[in-house]
Amino acid sequence: MLMGDTCTRGCRFCSVKTSRAPPPLDPHEPEHTAEALSRWGLGYVVLTSVDRDDLADGGAAHFAETVRKIKHKAPGMLVEALTGDYAGDEAMVAMVARSGLDVYAHNVETVEALTPMVRDRRAGFGQSLRVLRWAKESREGVITKTSVMLGLGETEEQLWETLRGESLSSPLPFSSRNYLLTYRPQPSAPPTSTS
Ligand code: SF4
Repeated sequence: MLMGDTCTRGCRFCSVKTSRAPPPLDPHEPEHTAEALSRWGLGYVVLTSVDRDDLADGGAAHFAETVRKIKHKAPGMLVEALTGDYAGDEAMVAMVARSGLDVYAHNVETVEALTPMVRDRRAGFGQSLRVLRWAKESREGVITKTSVMLGLGETEEQLWETLRGESLSSPLPFSSRNYLLTYRPQPSAPPTSTS
């Protein structure tokens, strides 16, 4: 996970530390990350990060630089970037999408109706869909990917609406993960459902 261990947001399902003013970025992180990954000889790597609303670019330049350095040191390594929404800034999304990555991932996390109860108030279902669309439009051939958690109380109809990508011009590839298995809910976490 890039850009530290402290996020400026506070999604209710997430146990990452949160602060309005996390420590500054480590300027050497892109180089050190690329160097370590190239030594490990991996074929596919997933990079993710905390959200950094305290930074003017949300950390987009730092993320993009990390991808570029990985591709420079290990051109054969496939890179998936699981990013934040960059506060809905299209230019920042494009910067990351054009960094040389292979897969641009950004999670909607849940169905639209449950979004306000599950995610930080600065996130939004529509905003996340725009992020994915901008990423797709920014570079020909880039693969976009998103995920939803199951068991938060979503109905089957809401889930199918989401999976069909009815808010988009075309469906997106989705994966699903089970909320109860993936996360240890915090005391403030939203209620779960097993139905
Ligand atoms: S933006 Fe990501 S890292 Fe930050 S609180 Fe939400 S899920 Fe956790």
